[in-house]
Amino acid sequence: MEKKTHLFKAEVGEMLDLVINSLYSKKEIFLRELLSNASDAIDRAKYRGLTEKELVADNPEWKITITADKDAKTLMISDNGSGMNAEDLENNLGVIASSGTKAFREALKKDGGANLPELIGQFGVGFYAAFMVADTVRVVSRKRGETAAYRWESTGSGSYSVEDDVRDEPGTSVMLHLRKDYEEFLDEWRIRELVRQYSDFIAYPIFFKALPEKKEEDKKDGEKKEPETPKPLNTMVALWKRPKKDIKPEEYNEFYKHHTHDYSDPLETIHFSGEGAVEFKALLFLPKQAGMEIYMPQTKRGLSLYVRNVFIGNDFEMLLPNYLRFVKGVVDSSDLPLNVSREMLQDDAVIRKIKQTVTSKVLSTLKDMKEKWEKSAADGKKDGEKKYLDFYNTFGRILKEGVANDYENADRIKHLLLYPTAKNEDGRLVSLDDYVKAMPKEQKDIYYLTAERIEDARHAPQLEAALKHGCDVLLMADPVDDWLSSSFYDFEGKKLVDIARGDVSFGSEDEQKKEKADAEKAAEGLKGFFEDVKKQFEDSLSDVKVSTRLTDSPCCLVADENSVSPAIERMMRAMNQEVPKSKRILEVNASHPLVKKVAALEGDERRDAIELLYDQALVAEGSPVPDPARFAKLLTTLMLK
Ligand code: ADP
Repeated sequence: MEKKTHLFKAEVGEMLDLVINSLYSKKEIFLRELLSNASDAIDRAKYRGLTEKELVADNPEWKITITADKDAKTLMISDNGSGMNAEDLENNLGVIASSGTKAFREALKKDGGANLPELIGQFGVGFYAAFMVADTVRVVSRKRGETAAYRWESTGSGSYSVEDDVRDEPGTSVMLHLRKDYEEFLDEWRIRELVRQYSDFIAYPIFFKALPEKKEEDKKDGEKKEPETPKPLNTMVALWKRPKKDIKPEEYNEFYKHHTHDYSDPLETIHFSGEGAVEFKALLFLPKQAGMEIYMPQTKRGLSLYVRNVFIGNDFEMLLPNYLRFVKGVVDSSDLPLNVSREMLQDDAVIRKIKQTVTSKVLSTLKDMKEKWEKSAADGKKDGEKKYLDFYNTFGRILKEGVANDYENADRIKHLLLYPTAKNEDGRLVSLDDYVKAMPKEQKDIYYLTAERIEDARHAPQLEAALKHGCDVLLMADPVDDWLSSSFYDFEGKKLVDIARGDVSFGSEDEQKKEKADAEKAAEGLKGFFEDVKKQFEDSLSDVKVSTRLTDSPCCLVADENSVSPAIERMMRAMNQEVPKSKRILEVNASHPLVKKVAALEGDERRDAIELLYDQALVAEGSPVPDPARFAKLLTTLMLK
């Protein structure tokens, strides 16, 4: 194969620039990334070797070797894992994992690279961290089962080349030519320290070799005798198998970073054993930041599975329900056969049991976190334990899906939900339990209002009567809330009621009766006006009614009990879907002076005023007016008067 030079995909180029020029101080993490890749590659080779014996015909002793050459200023990380052929090299090292490309670019643009290390980790581009310390990176690799070897090389500036090479054994060597100032990474003690700190639990031995080897004549007599068997730098104990009490928080954190390629510590660590019918150990993490599962639900997700110490694979979706797809970590069970395949696992009783236990444990951990947060807020601690709030702000909208999708746990999930409410103007989030506790005696249902943005909901006229009667209203702006509320049914026996839909009245029965009578009375003489409004907007309105919902506003729009909500309509339109036009109901505050005035007008003046009244009802709830230019013109004419 001739040497071929390729340009990096644009986003790789962009990212490499950032990597090379980043002021990130912990350049040393490049080693962790390369060792993780080497260990992943051995995991993969070992697993495939279980069924494809020819791939492990060389009967490999799995290991990773770090070779430092002080004269040449090179550091090489070699493994005898899966290896890569020319095509793999191009696909893996010339692009950012294609599923993540777009999301990576967007995230990169958003903060201009300020969180570069976190981004590199989240989007699985750890290999490129090598360019933080190296001016040239050369990868020589031979894929297991093939005889040809290839060399990939780049200086990180725009292009890379791929050409033939030779390698005696299958596997991969990544050689870094270190930049000036980074020669510390050639020292054995420094490498030893870094392996201990970041990669101790890697399951394969990591050896260190210094080059150039001492020449025979330089060696003292005593050194000639026995070549000593080298000792690995790492202890190789799987962290999840060690007793919890012996593990330091730093060890958990480093394992998490090794496992996820995230650069931040996890938000929460969950280490436990499943006992009883199915025995397993699990080490789970809640990340601080959302990875791609937020941007694209179809990306790889799930837990890594080990069976009796053998790595079976990562991204086992069936170990976690979809709505917990942000959970990362490892499950190790001895109750599964070694030759399991993903297909077999789809419907396996052991897997189902593990999934059930893992789900339950994650939900109970979230409950504990929530209680800690609530307690610290109740104690008036300003900088108290707010992990749950951080968690909820990042992953709450994914968790919510569970209410609709996990019938068995829906109730537990409902207790974990938080919402801003109309009464809490500071934006504080309130749990459904607290909402219910604060309900006035005569309030039977839980009220909510959806809008495109929380701010729109907060100012919506539909809130007026609820607040007047001391009832708080949950404000929702997440598209997921819209379809969620339809599968919510109830919370602790209380119905969830959309206050912008159907007939809703507040206060005691007597109050309701009186309000209704007052409104009807005020509407006397407006019947003709209502008919005219309805006729003028017969395409958009199904009815015009007198309202008990309003105190300060002249009118508002509400939906029919059974119609699609405006938020869902907007969402469907955003997804380019045909939206069936649903007519709405205009509710009019009959005692509002403006309504009386408009009703008393005549001819064109009356038509224009009615149109403005309708348009401002749309504006008030955050919906677009059908003809903004005309709206502006009507308003100008009115102001001139
Ligand atoms: P990630 O490891 O998060 O996928 P990287 O940028 O570190 O991202 O690596 C990209 C891909 O290159 C890996 O997914 C893997 O397929 C391949 N790769 C990297 N290092 C090795 C290695 N030592 N042996 C085999 N394949 C490797």
